[in-house]
Amino acid sequence: MTEHAAWTAECSGCRATLGHGNGAVPELAACPACGANSPVVQISVHDVARVEVAEDTRVVGRHGEVGKVKPYLDQRVGDDWSHRLRRFVQRIRILDRDNNRYVEKVVDPETGEVLRDVEEPLSDHRGHGSAKQPSSDAPQTSPIKSDPQEKLR
Ligand SMILES: [Zn+2]
Repeated sequence: MTEHAAWTAECSGCRATLGHGNGAVPELAACPACGANSPVVQISVHDVARVEVAEDTRVVGRHGEVGKVKPYLDQRVGDDWSHRLRRFVQRIRILDRDNNRYVEKVVDPETGEVLRDVEEPLSDHRGHGSAKQPSSDAPQTSPIKSDPQEKLR
């Protein structure tokens, strides 16, 4: 049996629960209650640690129409090759524009070990790369529970 991340979906309009389950998130129809077609899907990060085989999953939440409104929430769950471990690990990225939050977690699906755990303001993350702020009174990343040597390369 393949275990995936647990997910729940709710309507961004009326907050009705549209569905929940484990594994790949299916196509979600418009909300039967209010007709809004912008479900918000939440993936439980804790359960992702137990994922054995990951399929790329992308979840985008939007307050308006595609092409007119930027998504306020963009979550991706997918495989990422670890050179150190020489196998695939699972990467979860969340871009949450409503809350100005960028979260990135990389989890070893075999051991459940968190290899990377970043949570920072999304505004700090703009311009992907080595945009180092010379002065910052806040730490760049949240405390990493795992050994610092366990960083992905
Ligand atoms: Zn609704």
